[in-house]
Amino acid sequence: MPNKNILIIEDEENIAQLVSYNLIKAGFHVICAESGEEGLKLLKSAEIDCILLDLMLPGISGIEVCEVLKASEKFSGIPVIMLTAKGEEEDIVAGLECGADDYVTKPFSPRVLVARLKSVLRRSRRFLPTDKLPEQEESILIQELQINIGRHEVLLNGVSLQLTMTEFSILVLLAGRPGWVFTRQQIIDHVRGYDFLVTPRAVDVQIFGLRRKLGRAGEHIETIRGVGYRFKE
Ligand code: CA
Repeated sequence: MPNKNILIIEDEENIAQLVSYNLIKAGFHVICAESGEEGLKLLKSAEIDCILLDLMLPGISGIEVCEVLKASEKFSGIPVIMLTAKGEEEDIVAGLECGADDYVTKPFSPRVLVARLKSVLRRSRRFLPTDKLPEQEESILIQELQINIGRHEVLLNGVSLQLTMTEFSILVLLAGRPGWVFTRQQIIDHVRGYDFLVTPRAVDVQIFGLRRKLGRAGEHIETIRGVGYRFKE
């Protein structure tokens, strides 16, 4: 399986090195992150085919990383193999429950890890099934705004805007049902998994950024005091 890109999220340097060495020798491309935060950032900048995820990480845990991935439309299809300490059955169960595809307990044989990786890659469906394709081409057209959902693209009077994943996701939610009021909690529930939008205040910050990028079209996003936001045509 040449040319597959593997992201290793592991804070222990010697393990990351050992795994990298063996994967490169087996023909994989490898990219390493020392924390969950860094791993999630790297995911957005590279096309990753599988993630090897340590559970015990500084900052956000491997389980939390897995939850973020599996809640994300874009990344949920990427298979995850957890690296767990031997005998931590609770961790294994928690990891599999949050959507990991397989696990390997430390200390592990590099040959076993490579075999598991190949097996997971064979099983994985990296691409969406064809029956989902028409939906991918769906677009929302409201006056000067055109939102192409599948392509993650927003055009304002034909000019492409640079939105973050979270801003894009919020815009799709609001503009997808013009006139409907969404509470901050509903917005959080919708975008959770892209970035780390966890507080109602963070929603306000995102809306502020979104309005600014939309320029005059930002007036479509209306604040409903004490409730949330809505998109008006
Ligand atoms: Ca660790």
